[in-house]
Amino acid sequence: MFKRIRVKPEPQPDAATLRCEHPGCEAPGAHRAPKGRLREGQYFSFCLDHVREYNASYNYFRGMSDEDVAKYQKEAVVGHRPTWNMGVNRAGKGHREEGVEPEGFVDPLGMFRDRARGPGEDRPRRPRYGLAAMKALNTLGLDETADAETIKARYKELVKRLHPDANGGDRSLEDRLREIIHAYNFLKSAKLA
Ligand SMILES: [Zn+2]
Repeated sequence: MFKRIRVKPEPQPDAATLRCEHPGCEAPGAHRAPKGRLREGQYFSFCLDHVREYNASYNYFRGMSDEDVAKYQKEAVVGHRPTWNMGVNRAGKGHREEGVEPEGFVDPLGMFRDRARGPGEDRPRRPRYGLAAMKALNTLGLDETADAETIKARYKELVKRLHPDANGGDRSLEDRLREIIHAYNFLKSAKLA
């Protein structure tokens, strides 16, 4: 019995014996290529020349409407994002799960490349304030992170607080109040408040 098994071993499929699946090609199919959407986890085996040819024409979104592609890409921001952009220990949740991503993985639309930006970079940038505007902001006790709403709110608050009527007729704060009004008027004229 033992001898028989040794003489006639079960054929074991392994990578070395795979043939390139390109019609008519007899080369070893050592390179994997994803079969595509809805066939995730399935791969063709190709030789190097044919995996290159396949990758060049590969379109994951073939057969999808523009709307579907847009939806997929939107979801990609949160769901399909590769783990190298999500920190560590996300194995099993991203595309980078061990062994899932094939050799010759293609990114025809560059959608994963574009996700390499930091998480804060999609935030709208505040205008850069000039020196005079910065001085005016400082007068109001604000810094460059203040937006127009913050400036307006702070101005109202300071005027209310420093106005002689709110201080029993004390006029000692008038210089400070004048500075604040001046600063606010400057920011307003600069369309920053
Ligand atoms: Zn081939």
